[in-house]
Amino acid sequence: MGTPPTPASLGQQATRIVAYVAVVLLPLVVSVLARLRTFELSLLEAGKAAALLGLGVVTMQLVLSARLLWAERPFGLDRLYRFHRVMGGVALLLFLAHPVLLAGGGYGSDLLTNLRAPWPIWAGKLALLLLLLMVLVATFRRQLGVEFGRWRAAHRIAALLLLLVGTGHALNVADDLHSLPIRLAFVVTIAVGAVALAAYRASPAVSGRGPQWKVESVRPETHNVHTLTLRPSVGTRDGRHLPGQFRFLRPAGPGSIHEDHPFTAASDPSADGALSFTIKASGYFTRAIPSMESEHAVCLSPPYGRFSYLLNPEETDLVFIAGGIGITPLMSMVRHMHSSGADRDVLLIYGNRTEADIVFRQELADLRVSGRPRLRVVHVLSRPSGSWQGETGRIDRERIGRLCGEVIGKGFYVCGPRAMMRDVLRALRALGVPRSRIHYEYFEL
Ligand SMILES: Cc1cc2nc3c(=O)[nH]c(=O)nc-3n(C[C@H](O)[C@H](O)[C@H](O)COP(=O)(O)OP(=O)(O)OC[C@H]3O[C@@H](n4cnc5c(N)ncnc54)[C@H](O)[C@@H]3O)c2cc1C
Repeated sequence: MGTPPTPASLGQQATRIVAYVAVVLLPLVVSVLARLRTFELSLLEAGKAAALLGLGVVTMQLVLSARLLWAERPFGLDRLYRFHRVMGGVALLLFLAHPVLLAGGGYGSDLLTNLRAPWPIWAGKLALLLLLLMVLVATFRRQLGVEFGRWRAAHRIAALLLLLVGTGHALNVADDLHSLPIRLAFVVTIAVGAVALAAYRASPAVSGRGPQWKVESVRPETHNVHTLTLRPSVGTRDGRHLPGQFRFLRPAGPGSIHEDHPFTAASDPSADGALSFTIKASGYFTRAIPSMESEHAVCLSPPYGRFSYLLNPEETDLVFIAGGIGITPLMSMVRHMHSSGADRDVLLIYGNRTEADIVFRQELADLRVSGRPRLRVVHVLSRPSGSWQGETGRIDRERIGRLCGEVIGKGFYVCGPRAMMRDVLRALRALGVPRSRIHYEYFEL
């Protein structure tokens, strides 16, 4: 399962960035070198360059979304996925620029409007339309009411079609792409994407094959949150992971929902072989968790993410800010600090709607009393009952400033619903917390 991530290494990040840029540029560079004698700077060449660059970018989209540990470790999966989204937009701009530049460079507006164009031109138009649809639906999925699982399946099929149709277009429309070196560059670029896709499809949490875990217990925590505890089946070896990391979990066997969803391992990673995930029922997948029976088989991905206090060892004075189920990575860290005797001061500001929504309330109180770590817990309720004595309202700048005191020198870890994260991250910046000291995890990829 690979080694766990280490504190940020610029060298590791640089290697991945160089590898990415090399593959993206390969078709363009080889095409320019192969035609060096006939190459001249023109709108026409810029149009061709846009398409060749676009091909490299689209192929690397497969690599970025394949959850490859080698690519993920230095950045974290959330950053890779964010980059994937940005590069989807960049690819669209490149492919939009391609016909416009070619038309301006000599082909004329006929290229854009002629309905009697040969099939390779129509293939290019189809590829452009596919990409436009993919970017639009990915950006407005929620507003369009498209369910995540359906969107993901359709997005993948569209991506493969796009590559197929786009390559068919490129190899049949442009005479100057027929030379062997250029064809080889195409093959190598697409092979990189295909290998990444195959690795993704073969991974246990996606294929449902490979080492399995068994459900040990499902325990209620609150009215809509359950803790699922898994233990490895005989022969399943598990890699180490850091407190705060997450895994993709896929129920296996008959009657299961065969989908992989990300969840933080809320348990202390240094505890015995068992792993526990504390899961809030929000949709059809998470609502099925409480009815999982003992011994049910589950496949797990390797651990992902960089949201862990162990990756920032220089920070010893910590402020954890959680909203709702966003407590899970922070709980994993507090549990790990407790069992490892880590010398840390932790202020946990934990927001929920009502008292009934607070997860791990008793355990947090016990950990505070234990004094390891030196933990202070402040619960904040947005819809308190009349008898609530504690803090009420939202976790805003005034409250964080008042509870934390001096912010300089402290490390902040934030996890919760999107709106809360947005407000808290803004508040921390306004309070003068340096970006390098703000760590956060969105529960959306
Ligand atoms: C890094 C990370 C850690 C997480 N840790 C926890 C945790 O410890 N406890 C917890 O309760 N929840 C956690 N979540 C959220 C959890 O993954 C979603 O709530 C769950 O997948 C929703 O599935 P659903 O079908 O029940 O709900 P739906 O209503 O179908 O989905 C709600 C939203 O969840 C996201 N989602 C749905 N399916 C997937 C999928 N297969 N892969 C990725 N995202 C998906 C989409 O944004 C979707 O809009 C985590 C999410 C991430 C990204």
